[in-house]
Amino acid sequence: AHPAHDPHCIFCKITAGQIPSNKVYEDEELFAFHDIRPAAPVHFLIVPKKHIVSLAHACPDDEALLGKIMVLAPRLALEQGCNPYPEGGFRTVVNTGAEGGQEVHHLHVHVMGGPRPWKHG
Ligand code: 5GP
Ligand code: ZN
Repeated sequence: AHPAHDPHCIFCKITAGQIPSNKVYEDEELFAFHDIRPAAPVHFLIVPKKHIVSLAHACPDDEALLGKIMVLAPRLALEQGCNPYPEGGFRTVVNTGAEGGQEVHHLHVHVMGGPRPWKHG
């Protein structure tokens, strides 16, 4: 089972309000906030409040939670200024492990959108 909170985890500290963030959404299970180094005009992260280390750590008990993140993503993307499908849209990215480019070891879904080309931040 995943711990509810890892006291050393930066995203656990953000969801608990111990580190400030620019919040996009919150409910009992999920938290979304703007990425501190945006790679696109709209760039936020959706995370489960419980400390799931990575997608490689997800188990069948997490299926509903992960599905909830994916269904929430398009709604928040529009709210945050992404243009509608199909001319607009957004990217969803989940980096997993060192070779997957994961730097923060608390599962998060990147949502990136806005007019292209995106500048590198
Ligand atoms: P990863 O490479 O693990 O998929 O992405 C981690 C993301 O978290 C990066 O895009 C990085 O900019 C973002 N990030 C890291 N630390 C913080 C923080 O303290 N606050 C916010 N808002 N974003 C962070
Ligand atoms: Zn965590």
